[in-house]
Amino acid sequence: MKRHSVTVIGAGVAGLCCALELAERGARVEVVERGRALGEGSCSWQAGGMLAPWCERATTDAAVATMGAASIEWWSQHFPGLVRNGSLVVVQSRDSADLARFAERTDHFEWIDAERIAALEPDLAGRYRRALFFPDEAHLDPRRALATLVERLAERGVAIRFGVDLLPDAAPGDAVVDCRGFAARDALSDLRGVRGEMVMVRCRDIALARPIRMLHPRIPLYIVPRGDGLFMIGATMIESERRGPVSVRSAVELLNAAYALHPAFGEAEVVELGADLRPAFADNLPQVRREGRVLRANGLFRHGFLLAPALARQVADTLRMETYDADIPERRRA
Ligand SMILES: Cc1cc2nc3c(=O)[nH]c(=O)nc-3n(C[C@H](O)[C@H](O)[C@H](O)COP(=O)(O)OP(=O)(O)OC[C@H]3O[C@@H](n4cnc5c(N)ncnc54)[C@H](O)[C@@H]3O)c2cc1C
Repeated sequence: MKRHSVTVIGAGVAGLCCALELAERGARVEVVERGRALGEGSCSWQAGGMLAPWCERATTDAAVATMGAASIEWWSQHFPGLVRNGSLVVVQSRDSADLARFAERTDHFEWIDAERIAALEPDLAGRYRRALFFPDEAHLDPRRALATLVERLAERGVAIRFGVDLLPDAAPGDAVVDCRGFAARDALSDLRGVRGEMVMVRCRDIALARPIRMLHPRIPLYIVPRGDGLFMIGATMIESERRGPVSVRSAVELLNAAYALHPAFGEAEVVELGADLRPAFADNLPQVRREGRVLRANGLFRHGFLLAPALARQVADTLRMETYDADIPERRRA
């Protein structure tokens, strides 16, 4: 790639993955972020960090599984904190038909019995008769992962200017990658926000090695261990663009789920409540759209960490093609 200069707007997971992919391919990159610090105002800061392409297959397009599987490899190369322990799907026994229905809609799993559940997650011993185990799935702590991407960028000389509110048309550079998440709706009228809420708790009486999904009629509930007794419980998915704090109903449902998984969560401390809007297009799949020198990379929906590496690759591929096109007249002149 010719050393094109690229401005990336937004230091969420989309912006940081795009910036790193472009820098690794030789572009001169600068990132601008309107938040004053990493994570401030970013949906990515609220994410659970599940990299679960095959579980997601139960409710999403096959493309999510294909792109997501490749992204797990990308994270393993860029973030040493990636945990590859798989994930577990459980259901309270009265709803066991739901587990079978979930299994019908996905693949890459094993049916496991109570003994295997106890071997994988000793603290869940005796609580479930059957579960689905997805051994190839992974998870990460999104906040540590974003911080690591910033370090990787710094190693390549890519600066991030925090506290800079910039619109793509005003941005310098041969190309601009608009990764403003939901804020890009001024340019993407078909982008919608899907409200997600989460609770973070600390509980030292239980240890989990992997994310646990609990099938629920309304909420795709899960608990992700973050280490040091910290657990993220997520996440509501509400077709609403209301910003603002977590509702009592959502907090009750999320905390009930944790308590149902294990009563030890009854004594947990609530550390944080968080909410944001996931940026999504109508089909809930991400897209890269080009308008002149501006590329808009958006629509990560509930798959920000799962699909950002694939989105970044698409952005870098698109810019490389443009660079070759731009080079042709120069070569002819030579
Ligand atoms: C509760 C919850 C749980 C989730 N769990 C998961 C999960 O387990 N796995 C998963 O893969 N995904 C998950 N997601 C989805 C994921 O968080 C989103 O898909 C992802 O964060 C979208 O990333 P983004 O970079 O497009 O947007 P953002 O993270 O919002 O980043 C956009 C950035 O652009 C900046 N910005 C906006 N306007 C400007 C401007 N004019 N100038 C400069 N900067 C600007 C913003 O400040 C922001 O930092 C979850 C989401 C929520 C809410």
